[in-house]
Amino acid sequence: MTEVAVAKEDVAASDDLVVLKSVNKHFGALHVLQEIDLTIGRGEVVVVIGPSGSGKSTLCRTINRLETIDSGSITIDGKPLPQEGKALARLRADVGMVFQSFNLFAHKTVLENVMLGQLKVRKTDKKKAEEQARALLDRVGVGSQADKYPAQLSGGQQQRVAIARALAMGPKVMLFDEPTSALDPEMINEVLEVMQQLAREGMTMVVVTHEMGFARSAANRVVFMADGRIIEQASPEQFFSNPRSDRAKDFLSKIL
Ligand code: ADP
Ligand code: MG
Repeated sequence: MTEVAVAKEDVAASDDLVVLKSVNKHFGALHVLQEIDLTIGRGEVVVVIGPSGSGKSTLCRTINRLETIDSGSITIDGKPLPQEGKALARLRADVGMVFQSFNLFAHKTVLENVMLGQLKVRKTDKKKAEEQARALLDRVGVGSQADKYPAQLSGGQQQRVAIARALAMGPKVMLFDEPTSALDPEMINEVLEVMQQLAREGMTMVVVTHEMGFARSAANRVVFMADGRIIEQASPEQFFSNPRSDRAKDFLSKIL
């Protein structure tokens, strides 16, 4: 018994929340993730940038096992990703994901969208799930929209609902895959502000984005990917003022 307890404490004591080691992934002949080593610490905000097709979305999708990997390992909180069944559903709850296209259920109200996962996966009772959902909707600034359907909301509001829905599961880490890319320009900030607030509150976050202002102000680390590889990792200050690789210099010269 004592040995088990000690081993558990070791895991809990680690500051590493998400650890990828030598991860490889192919789509047919395309080697889309190549020897990816990436460690994300508890409370860390990592912004992933890189050209289109470099593997950023695939990287996110492997972390909550929407994609399988061919070799290497991924652990979350010291545990390998489960393969299937209830453990996989719990993993998806621990790893919240927000996509470019909000992916809300069109035929459920905003409130129902946020409650659903808590009821099904976390088995929260209905009253408590509703209380939590309303509180989260307030927190992301759409509390007054709770009884509407997604199509009645603006894109920025829908994306904030999607964030509330992921948060309702009590995730250990949140993955954002270009969360503002599909939004009209005037709605980008309202979503980034919610993400900034989450970052300040200590949420562990992986954010794929082209919003360099967000990267500069919220990221602890920038990870630059190209052709399925992590080319460099640095603090935002260092990365933006003094990128080391030619690939990163070239990329930054095109977007800044
Ligand atoms: P990014 O998000 O950086 O733009 P992706 O991870 O979406 O890159 O894609 C990386 C590469 O993998 C691209 O060449 C893309 O066309 C390819 N790809 C992504 N998903 C699939 C899939 N399901 N089947 C085949 N190829 C895919
Ligand atoms: Mg992508």
